Amino acid sequence: MSHKYVYEFSEGDGSMRNLLGGKGANLAEMTGLGMPVPQGFCITTEACTRYYTDGEQIGDDIRDQIVAYIGRLEEMTGKKFGDPDNPLLVSVRSGSRASMPGMMDTILNLGLNPTVVDAFAKKTGNPRFVYDSYRRFIQMYSDVVMEVGKAYFEELIDEMKEHRGVTDDLELTADDLKELSEQFKAEYKAKIGSEFPTDPIEQLFGAIKAVFRSWDNPRAVYYRRLNDIPSDWGTAVNVQSMVFGNLGDTSGTGVAFSRNPATGDKGLYGEFLMNAQGEDVVAGIRTPLTIDQLKQQNPAVYDEFQAIVDKLEDHYRDMQDMEFTIEEGKLFMLQTRNGKRTAAAAFKIACDLVDEGQISTEQAVKMIDPKQIDALLHPQFDAAELAAATPIGKGLPASPGAACGQVSFTAEDAAAKGKRGEDVVLVRLETTPEDIEGMHYAKGILTARGGMTSHAAVVARGMGTCCVSGLGDIGFPPGGTSFTLGGVTYNEGDWISLDGSTGNVYGVAIKTVPAEIGGYFGRIMEWADEFRTMKVRTNADSPTDAAQAREFGAEGIGLCRTEHMFFEADRIAAIREMIVSKTPEQREAALAKLLPMQRGDFEGIYEAMEGYPVTIRLLDPPLHEFLPHDEDDIVALAGEMNIAADELHSVIDSLHEFNPMMGHRGCRLDVTYPEIGAMQTRAIIEAAINVQKRHPEWHVVPEIMIPLVGEVKELAFVKKIVTDTADALIAEAGVDLKYLVGTMIEIPRAAITADEIASEAEFFSFGTNDLTQMTFGFSRDDAGKFLDAYYEKKIYESDPFARLDQTGVGKLVELAVDLGRQARPDIKLGICGEHGGDPSSIEFCQKVGLNYVSCSPFRVPIARLAAAQSALANR
Ligand code: ADP
Ligand code: MG
Ligand code: MG
Repeated sequence: MSHKYVYEFSEGDGSMRNLLGGKGANLAEMTGLGMPVPQGFCITTEACTRYYTDGEQIGDDIRDQIVAYIGRLEEMTGKKFGDPDNPLLVSVRSGSRASMPGMMDTILNLGLNPTVVDAFAKKTGNPRFVYDSYRRFIQMYSDVVMEVGKAYFEELIDEMKEHRGVTDDLELTADDLKELSEQFKAEYKAKIGSEFPTDPIEQLFGAIKAVFRSWDNPRAVYYRRLNDIPSDWGTAVNVQSMVFGNLGDTSGTGVAFSRNPATGDKGLYGEFLMNAQGEDVVAGIRTPLTIDQLKQQNPAVYDEFQAIVDKLEDHYRDMQDMEFTIEEGKLFMLQTRNGKRTAAAAFKIACDLVDEGQISTEQAVKMIDPKQIDALLHPQFDAAELAAATPIGKGLPASPGAACGQVSFTAEDAAAKGKRGEDVVLVRLETTPEDIEGMHYAKGILTARGGMTSHAAVVARGMGTCCVSGLGDIGFPPGGTSFTLGGVTYNEGDWISLDGSTGNVYGVAIKTVPAEIGGYFGRIMEWADEFRTMKVRTNADSPTDAAQAREFGAEGIGLCRTEHMFFEADRIAAIREMIVSKTPEQREAALAKLLPMQRGDFEGIYEAMEGYPVTIRLLDPPLHEFLPHDEDDIVALAGEMNIAADELHSVIDSLHEFNPMMGHRGCRLDVTYPEIGAMQTRAIIEAAINVQKRHPEWHVVPEIMIPLVGEVKELAFVKKIVTDTADALIAEAGVDLKYLVGTMIEIPRAAITADEIASEAEFFSFGTNDLTQMTFGFSRDDAGKFLDAYYEKKIYESDPFARLDQTGVGKLVELAVDLGRQARPDIKLGICGEHGGDPSSIEFCQKVGLNYVSCSPFRVPIARLAAAQSALANR
């Protein structure tokens, strides 16, 4: 038998997610549980992969299987494709392994053509319903095949409404809808150059191909990059017989969560619309009713639904997000999945499920997406400023948090400004999947239309971005550069503030303050720490950062960059004096001024870390970074230093480098000017002695890190400066202080010769920023200019500076780990690049056996959770 590419729902189950996609696997699972699911079949993700390897074609073997399964579906339903008396109508629904809401396409009512429509309208006696279904089919099919975006056809509908003098889509008559369907078909022909297909089989294959193609549309590609979803997964396609929510007032469609996705509170939470189909609820066409109102309108259906929801929660042991349709009073389940939720809700739900005895603490730790924690740690409004402000309007609290920014009206504008680091709030009538990039760069999102489950709300919650939706009072005057609210006009660039937890909108900028971390968060983090095997440290250069990181649970400092301390106003003069010194004596005199300042900094950091290990890196950047560059500053500095401006000019010129990142920096500075390393060592050791004396109960063990080493002899040279200085100080003080000397592994040559390096280094810290840059041969600062082209052309799927390149850079890390441990079995291994706070990179660190990861303070909780999950995955 040839390979199987098609499965009836009854042939699959929930475990077949990779093959059937999330939607298909869960439809199969619900079918198996005996729930009311319209019958259908699923074309596998493997068929999608084949579609691409076969040159964007559906192979004959796959085609045959699909046709055979249509035959089976006709038998099961007793309906026939294209049969005017009893037509089989289907939906063609995309569904990949990972949920990608709204990123790919779905087509409803497929199988309709003029002959079927006429007969069907007569048979049902409900021509409005039939033409409504027909125009929806043409609209969705054309939209997908023509790739023109949803707004394109919506405009024609709006024109029709205006023409008829109505505002609600329900007021359009059968004739209006018939006319619309003709207009849509004309658009299709104009754009595609052929008649709109009438043969259901041709329609079906057109739709399947379109879904396969939608896997690679720009917004899906962008979403995958954001969510680390590999492009070779492909999407499955579900073909399902239609049930109709647009049959009249006893029919409807809705979406619901088994718990509140914003707060985590238990209980049904959702919205529905009567006489509506498909995405009407989330598209914000009419304002939907809340699920409680269903209880009043149709208690029997409500109770049946509630029973199914309870059964699904018990079955999946997680909060469910469900789509349903009611056809003339009969309930059908169309989708279920583990629901997306805010960070706050995620923590509450996980704790509640543990308390309800549904899951173990291990499962609770596993079920939270570490990336989401970010949102929890993000700012809230300053309480005093908030109390003093008066809202100008109130919409739905669609995604919590506080946002303050300048008004922007298009996704492109918001993305452009956001990329420049400006704070923007995106204000839209409603959002569509095409807006995803702008939404990502916005601090907050405000929409006039749409409910709690609108596109804007769902996507914003997933991103942890503040969102207020459904603020119907907003007016949009022509021109697209302003909105009105409460009689006031707000222009592009005006400051506004959004409170995503209350729905309030303010016409002024309100200061934001860091969030407080609640009890559920603490419980989960405690459980996570029980499972975690890697330590989590922080990258901190000041006592304030170090204290913040301690509060978030950091167990030491993995990287303290000493140069940041030099940039402060009162120190820059001393460092400049050191740089322009001509003799070692002059240089030592300048360094002597810096010594007490550095010692004070280190004491503050040791104090903040309360005896946890502290890794301090010797001076790293090219010296010319510290020098003044404009003329006024140069003259001023020359005056301060008692030298001629010309002389200072020539010093600055002599420090010029063609390629500073690969120039005179790192340990090369200590090779040329050993006094620098000696002074820094003195500050590190003296501070440690002082703090140890003040806190005899702590074990202050400084770890001195020598940067940018590529050759063991240069490491040995600098190490000797460090140990000579440190040992003398310790002997002089008559104390028993331990310290370690190690290095960063950030030059490929160091990784390749890691066994030699380890003969001198007591620890390695992988500096994966530089290691990535040196391995790829492009710099982080310049890569932004061309990486987009690489994503577009599918050469890279993600930014190697954000997510560790495991194939290349990772191989160097693994090699260095192996060689290092061979030469020195008890060597301490850690990572301090940006990657130390990235969950997928942390998983890699666990796999290769690092002792710790180190990341910025706000990423510490993310790293703790990701490290726990990695430990559990590697058990
Ligand atoms: P998405 O992945 O964007 O949510 P879906 O495939 O779930 O797209 O389809 C969107 C909506 O279309 C569903 O929520 C449902 O309301 C409607 N729908 C899909 N298939 C059917 C069907 N067979 N019968 C009735 N409605 C359907
Ligand atoms: Mg959708
Ligand atoms: Mg859906």
